[in-house]
Amino acid sequence: MSVVVRFAPSPTGPLHIGGIRTAFYNYLLAKKLGGKFILRIEDTDQVRFVPGAEEYIMEALRWCGIEIDYGVREGGPDAPYRQSERGVIYQQYTQQLLSEGKAYIAFDTPGELTEMRTQAEKSGNPGWQYNYLTRKGMINSLTLSEAAVKQRTESGEPYVIRLKVPEDQEVHFKDEIRGEVVVHTSQIDDKVLMKSDGLPTYHLANIIDDHLMKVTHVIRGEEWLPSAPLHLLLYQAFGWNPPSFAHLPLILRPDGNGKLSKRDGDRLGVPVFPLDWTDPDTGEKTNGFKESGYLPDALVNFMALLGWHPEGNEEVMSVERMIELFSIEKVGKSGTKFDIDKLHWFNQTYIKQKPNEYFLPYIKETLLKQGMNTDFTDEYLMKVAHLMKERAVLMKDFVLKATYLYQAPEYDSAFMAKQWNETGKNNLIALSNVWSRLNSEEWNTQRLHDTMHEWMTTNSIANKFLMPQLRLALTGVSGGPDSIEIADLLGKSETISRFERLIAQ
Ligand code: GLU
Repeated sequence: MSVVVRFAPSPTGPLHIGGIRTAFYNYLLAKKLGGKFILRIEDTDQVRFVPGAEEYIMEALRWCGIEIDYGVREGGPDAPYRQSERGVIYQQYTQQLLSEGKAYIAFDTPGELTEMRTQAEKSGNPGWQYNYLTRKGMINSLTLSEAAVKQRTESGEPYVIRLKVPEDQEVHFKDEIRGEVVVHTSQIDDKVLMKSDGLPTYHLANIIDDHLMKVTHVIRGEEWLPSAPLHLLLYQAFGWNPPSFAHLPLILRPDGNGKLSKRDGDRLGVPVFPLDWTDPDTGEKTNGFKESGYLPDALVNFMALLGWHPEGNEEVMSVERMIELFSIEKVGKSGTKFDIDKLHWFNQTYIKQKPNEYFLPYIKETLLKQGMNTDFTDEYLMKVAHLMKERAVLMKDFVLKATYLYQAPEYDSAFMAKQWNETGKNNLIALSNVWSRLNSEEWNTQRLHDTMHEWMTTNSIANKFLMPQLRLALTGVSGGPDSIEIADLLGKSETISRFERLIAQ
C-alpha cells in the first residue's frame, strides 16, 4: 500500500509554528516511506475564513522547504483539494448515511438547544449532550413520523444532519504516539455532520476526504485527539478502513506549561509564525521568522526536534538526514518547551556553515529596509559576510550589529569617555602616519598588523593606549570583529579619514 499523508489546515489566519511542525513531520514520513504529501485546504467554515490565509500557508510551506505533491495549485488524482469545491461529494455521502439509518435529521433550533442545556444545568447536570440518551426526547427524524419530517424539510425549515452514534459501545484505536485509546460511546455526542447551510462540518469532510484521497497516516496536533473516536465511528459508519493516527504533543511556552501563543512570542521577542502577517481586518502586523532573520533550514531543524528525539545526540541535521532518521515512535507524548536560546544557537550554527555569497541578498535587503547606503560592491559585501558570519545570530545582524561597516561610526559616549585621551590621540596620529605610507597593494591584514606592531615595539607603545582608540576610530563601539581586519576591509582612504574624524573631535 503506498503511503499518503496530508496536511489539512483551515485558512483561518497565519500558520503557527506548531502547524509547520505538523506539516514537516508529515513531509518527513512521506519522504521516508516513498509516499505522497497532500496539502488540503479545509475551508468549509465560512465564518472563520480569512482572506489571504491560504496563500500564506502555501508560501510558508515553500519557505520551509516542504514540497507538496498534490494540492490546490499542484492538482492531483483526487482534486479538487479545496473542501469548499467538494460540496457535492459531501452531500452524496451524507445521503448514504441517512438512507442507511446511520445519520438522522434534527430540527431543534439553537434556541431550543440552549434551553435544554440551561434546564439540565439547573437540575444539576451541567454537561448536557445531544446523544443516544437524549436524542429520543428531541425533535428529529428518529422521533417524528416520516411524513412530518418530509413536510418540515419541504417547507424550508432549517435542519442539521447528525451522526447516530451507536449505543453502549467501546471505541478502540491505537494512537502511534499515545498507544491504546478507549472511549465509550456514552462520552460521544451525536455530532452535527451537515450544518443548516448545507455545508459539512470539519469532521465529516475530513473523514470523507481522507478516505477518498487514500490517506494512510494522519499526523496532526494533539487538539484533535478528542475528535479521533468520533472519526473512528464515522469510518465504521461508512464501512471504511481508518488510517493510522498520531497526535503530536503541544509546543509549550518557554516559561510555563501553556501552549506557545502569539502573545508569548510578543512578550519574549520571538516570532511564532513563519512569515510576516498582516491581519486583513485590523491591519495589525505580526513578525515572521523569515523577516526577523531566521534561516529556514535552521528553523526547520530546531522545530523538528521539538517533540522528536532521534537516537543518539545528533542535533544539526540536513533534511535528508532527518528523513533518514525520522520515525513516529520517537515522538514523545508530552509537550516540549520552545527554547529560544536553542533556536538562536541553531540559527547561528547554520549561518556559520553558509558560503559568504549566501548573505549578499540579505545584506542588500536589510540596508535598503534601514534606509542606509546600498552602494557597495559584491566584493566588499563578501568580505563583510566573512567578517560577520561568526558573530551573527540573526540575518539582520550582518548589518545591525556592525552599521560602521557601511557608514561613518557613531561614537558610543561611555566608550569614548573611557578611552579617548591625549596619549591615545597622539598614538592614533602616529599610526595614521605609519599606515599612510602603505600603498593600496600593501593594504592587507598581514601588512597592517606587521607595520603596526613593529612601530609599537620600537616606540614601546602599550596596547591599552592604542587598541581601544583604534577601535573607537573605526567602529565607535567596544567589541566586534578584529580592528585590523576592519581596517583592511574599509580600505586606506576610509580608514585614514576615520582616524582624522576622531582626531578632530
Ligand atoms: N482542518 C484541521 C486543522 O485546521 C485539520 C485537522 C486534521 O488534520 O485532521 O487543523
